[in-house]
Amino acid sequence: MSSNGKPKIAFFDFTSCEGCQLTVIDSLQDHPELLNVVEIVQFREAMTEKGEDYQIAFVEGSCSRASDEPRLKKIRQQAAIVVALGACAHLGGVNALKALHPLDEVRKYVYGDKADWYETYDARPISAVIDVDYAIPGCPIDRNEFISVVKALLLGKKPPIPDYPLCVECKLKGNVCLYTKGQVCLGPVTRAGCGAICPSFGASCEACRGFITNPNDNSMREVLIEAGLTVEDITSIYTMFTTYQVREKIQQKG
Ligand code: SF4
Ligand code: SF4
Ligand code: SF4
Repeated sequence: MSSNGKPKIAFFDFTSCEGCQLTVIDSLQDHPELLNVVEIVQFREAMTEKGEDYQIAFVEGSCSRASDEPRLKKIRQQAAIVVALGACAHLGGVNALKALHPLDEVRKYVYGDKADWYETYDARPISAVIDVDYAIPGCPIDRNEFISVVKALLLGKKPPIPDYPLCVECKLKGNVCLYTKGQVCLGPVTRAGCGAICPSFGASCEACRGFITNPNDNSMREVLIEAGLTVEDITSIYTMFTTYQVREKIQQKG
């Protein structure tokens, strides 16, 4: 806590496109009242000051190299509350797709003949390295959800992140299901909270918010097969944002 009684907040980035940090800046522009009740001490995307004394840490990006680990552990040691910000930090996100290819090939594809210059390994969510208190899902995060989470944390409450399928939100919006139009969608197994934004605009949900607790994967797979998807198509849609989770499930099943 700062001398003025305001909780100190810091933002950090790891492997990411920084789109979630931009969403934070965008959200805060509409909620200047929040800036009066917290003190932001570190936020590389938005300010040059770099305070190391903070109670709440928002971490964007996945852990994709060994040198990320001590940095993450230092953040965990300092912060009373650590929040994963967005799909990269929460799930590993699109960065984890590289686990589907040999690492050397990926390095050469990205860095060419300079591949040996850059340190990297399979991308993981930050929860694979440190304990994480809460996650704000999405790629990018939902701006309103970010504000709700900050307000809940300041009130000492659990952030209101839904744990029911996206189809609930989609139906409440009165959308016609994409399956009736010959398209596919991961709504039945995906965590709600984005307002079913993709299906509302005619695009398939690819689970950027991750899966609900206990999704019915078998039924989802049957529905996708009935819709004409091949095993390769199903792997592709199921791993866009959730490669790390899918691999974990496969390992758990042996
Ligand atoms: S979750 Fe998406 S928008 Fe956010 S940092 Fe990762 S890639 Fe960018
Ligand atoms: S379009 Fe997707 S989210 Fe909407 S009801 Fe159909 S499966 Fe569910
Ligand atoms: S509809 Fe699916 S893919 Fe689109 S934002 Fe929501 S969770 Fe992410």
